Amino acid sequence: MLIMVTVTAQTVRTALVRALSEDQVFDDQAERICYSYDATRLEALPDVVVFPQTPEQVQQVVAIAIDTGTPLVPRGAGTGFVGGAVPVKGGIVLSLERMNRIIEIDPHNLVAVVEPGVVTGDLHKAVEAMGLFYPPDPSSAATCTIGGNAACGATGPRSVKYGGTRDYVLGLDAVLPTGEMVHTPSKAVKRVVGIDLARLLVGTEGTLGIITGLTLRLLPKPATVRTMLASFTRVTDAARAVSGTIAAGWLPRACEFMDHRCLELIRAHGAVTIPDAAGALLILETDGTAEESARVAAAISEVCREVGALEVRTAESTEEAAAIWAARKALSQAMYEVAPGKINEDIVVPRSALPELVAQVDELAMQSGLAIVCFGHAGEGNLHVNIMADLADPSIRQTAEVVVQSLFDTVVRLKGSVSGEHGIGLTKARYLPTEVSAEGLQVMARVKAAMDPHGIMNPGKILL
Ligand SMILES: Cc1cc2nc3c(=O)[nH]c(=O)nc-3n(C[C@H](O)[C@H](O)[C@H](O)COP(=O)(O)OP(=O)(O)OC[C@H]3O[C@@H](n4cnc5c(N)ncnc54)[C@H](O)[C@@H]3O)c2cc1C
Repeated sequence: MLIMVTVTAQTVRTALVRALSEDQVFDDQAERICYSYDATRLEALPDVVVFPQTPEQVQQVVAIAIDTGTPLVPRGAGTGFVGGAVPVKGGIVLSLERMNRIIEIDPHNLVAVVEPGVVTGDLHKAVEAMGLFYPPDPSSAATCTIGGNAACGATGPRSVKYGGTRDYVLGLDAVLPTGEMVHTPSKAVKRVVGIDLARLLVGTEGTLGIITGLTLRLLPKPATVRTMLASFTRVTDAARAVSGTIAAGWLPRACEFMDHRCLELIRAHGAVTIPDAAGALLILETDGTAEESARVAAAISEVCREVGALEVRTAESTEEAAAIWAARKALSQAMYEVAPGKINEDIVVPRSALPELVAQVDELAMQSGLAIVCFGHAGEGNLHVNIMADLADPSIRQTAEVVVQSLFDTVVRLKGSVSGEHGIGLTKARYLPTEVSAEGLQVMARVKAAMDPHGIMNPGKILL
């Protein structure tokens, strides 16, 4: 429970300025607005925004939050899709953007040590310049931060082959909501030393502590990459190609799905040429030595043709491959052309259940009369289901919410999960009981209470 103490925002600000410095504490209305929202477009104004530059400064901010009973919300780049960084109870937004140094890239141990505010795409470039590879690649990599990725357990197109952020966090430094610091100096690739505090924080969306440093596993950079675009008449054929590819024992490095509405948007922007009869697309990528990537690409093309692909085209140049990915990455914003509001779900099912899931989504769209746009990391069974509607209209919103509940019921029945990578945050908290049992929720609440006894850390998220 949050301890209510009669403190004004001004008192908190004064304490913060005393602990940090004037230029690390913003409380001007215009500045606070910039830290009031994330990619959900939900917003709530913080009382103050702070920009610590060291773990010790983070610790001082936590001490002030405890003393004054002020909610504390960590923030990376604010690209989250579930409202995790939105300060719904006001208080302090703690931005990690000034803790953005790549401390070390160690090619001998295949390890990078970074501060949490490093932009994911900057780390990709830095390690690739040294012939190394950091696989987790959320589509927001040009903006989002490594700290935010760890807090959300982010994955991306390459996770089908290489796994997500969780699989690359070897160690983690954090300031807990008690003010205690956790530090993992080990650069070893494995360790078994009791409760793994690093993994405990990964995916908990800033509700258990503030990540202040990360030790990440790297890989050698694959020598070649082949990018293919496969088009299908029906979404179910594309889904069968995905499960068929995996069942045949082939693991692409990326396997991204787009439905017929995505194709309309891509066609409208003229970014990539697609056969007229196509109603679904897969972007498929293979990597490794030239021989290996060509062999796996040929085998995957064969599977696609067997399920009736209209065309399987290999990008002839890096520019063509980049154009294919740019068209995919532009979808998140382009879909506002369909309707002014979006409910963005991030469901995941076992890959073999993907054909049933996409058929079910089509059925829900037909029954509800709502436009549902689907794309996602199909190689992992992870589908972004975007319900596009005028959500300002209460009856339309109610219909959309019924669709969301039906979708989640289906996902749980298919032995999947309501979130593959975006997390629970604010927007999905009320749906958590659809997947997690009452006992499971009680255990989570006890862990939260033990780690955050003052109830200051990112209140209102995950557990209601
Ligand atoms: C166009 C677009 C494409 C996207 N594609 C993907 C994708 O492919 N895969 C994917 O997984 N996600 C994707 N996302 C969602 C989002 O980018 C990820 O969730 C990302 O990990 C959020 O990082 P961030 O730095 O923006 O975090 P924020 O949005 O700032 O914060 C997210 C959550 O993490 C917490 N947090 C942030 N930093 C810290 C820290 N240092 N310590 C503790 N808690 C912290 C916040 O409190 C909040 O709960 C996409 C988003 C957009 C807008």
